[in-house]
Amino acid sequence: MKIVAKFGGSSVADADGFNRVKNIALQNDISVVVTSAYGKRKGYADDFKATDVLYTVLAHVRHGIDYETLWLNFCQRFYDIKKELNLKTDIAALLQTFKSQINKNSDEAYVISRGEYFTALLLAEHINYTFVDSADNVIFDYDGSIDMKKTADNLHAVLSKNKNIVLTGFYGATSAGSITLFDRGGSDISGSVVAAAIKADLYQNWTDVDGILAANPKIVISPDTIKKLSYKQLRELSYSGAVVMHESSVLPAMKAGIPIQIKNSFCPQNEGTLIEHKDADGVIGIAGTKGFLAFNIWLPQMSGQIGFIHKALKLFFSLGINIEHIPTNIDGLSIIVKEADVIGKEEYICVSLQKKLKAVVTVTKNISLLAIVGRLNAFVIRKIFECVEEKGAQAITVLQSPDRLNLILGVANDYYETITKALYQKLFREL
Ligand code: ASP
Repeated sequence: MKIVAKFGGSSVADADGFNRVKNIALQNDISVVVTSAYGKRKGYADDFKATDVLYTVLAHVRHGIDYETLWLNFCQRFYDIKKELNLKTDIAALLQTFKSQINKNSDEAYVISRGEYFTALLLAEHINYTFVDSADNVIFDYDGSIDMKKTADNLHAVLSKNKNIVLTGFYGATSAGSITLFDRGGSDISGSVVAAAIKADLYQNWTDVDGILAANPKIVISPDTIKKLSYKQLRELSYSGAVVMHESSVLPAMKAGIPIQIKNSFCPQNEGTLIEHKDADGVIGIAGTKGFLAFNIWLPQMSGQIGFIHKALKLFFSLGINIEHIPTNIDGLSIIVKEADVIGKEEYICVSLQKKLKAVVTVTKNISLLAIVGRLNAFVIRKIFECVEEKGAQAITVLQSPDRLNLILGVANDYYETITKALYQKLFREL
């Protein structure tokens, strides 16, 4: 079985983390390890991530501010790991060379990518795998997308010569060699791209939690870990706030049909979460986000006017505002957007909609959207509304697409936590 395993920053944060990765890699016969830069150590209140420090170093350099303390902090973790694990790599010399390259005009992506670079270098030595620089292998097109063909050719060539490799996450390069970063948290995407490129049997994402939780642990005490779900169901959950992996990291593996397994490097014996094509049955999880706003447009006989919705949407398109949902009724529709996206534009949008559509426009603020993800039967739907009623809330909006991936429930922000807790209790503990 060909496994690509990505380890997040907290999994490679210190020498103990490196040892855990080694055990996991050997026990699971992992051929490709993709690593993040070292992250925060568990139990250290004010710890830092390598990547954050590099961004700060660069900002200091650009403003001509002394960054010696930051630099020493950045290096110290590598020194500690090297010392504790008795590694041979002359990391001090490499870091010194890197430091001499940093100046006001340094290429940002190059500097920022060094967190992954040096972490991977030490990790490769420790687990006795071949170090592979993704700058030579993960190839970006000029539009920022990945050139899968070139990436696959490169990686196949590397793997034909090396059985086991450690690859740097978070970045690649254009064909011309210019280092290009994924988004923050993007080693998840690197791992997925690599798994897709080499047609792995499994993409494991090793992190510091047991998997995807069925509800937000900041609201619900000890929610269950979801054992299995589909890519689509995961997208619904992560879109609505249940973040474990980078949102875009699902797509490469999904397109290539590679199952994704989320595992906890601190408790590898735990089952984790498996993500595959098949939708899991029943209620999968509850996610949600506060801070939405609805523009309610009302015009008698709207439904008979072809192009009415199009006209309304055009305004949002021209302002570059993303639309979250569009619940409709016979004589009206509501356009739900993130409040943060329309700050300072609310008045203008209302007036423009009134003028363009000759409709009455009102605004509903402070909406939270809860996504209850899963194929819900009538009984479960009844339970959802029981919660709303029992807590004295109102369902401001209710949405379900015919593919029944989820049910979206809008409640006032003040009820967000209460309803989340009540739904979890009813759907996961009492059913
Ligand atoms: N090191 C990068 C970051 O902190 C990428 C990652 O960890 O996935 O965003």
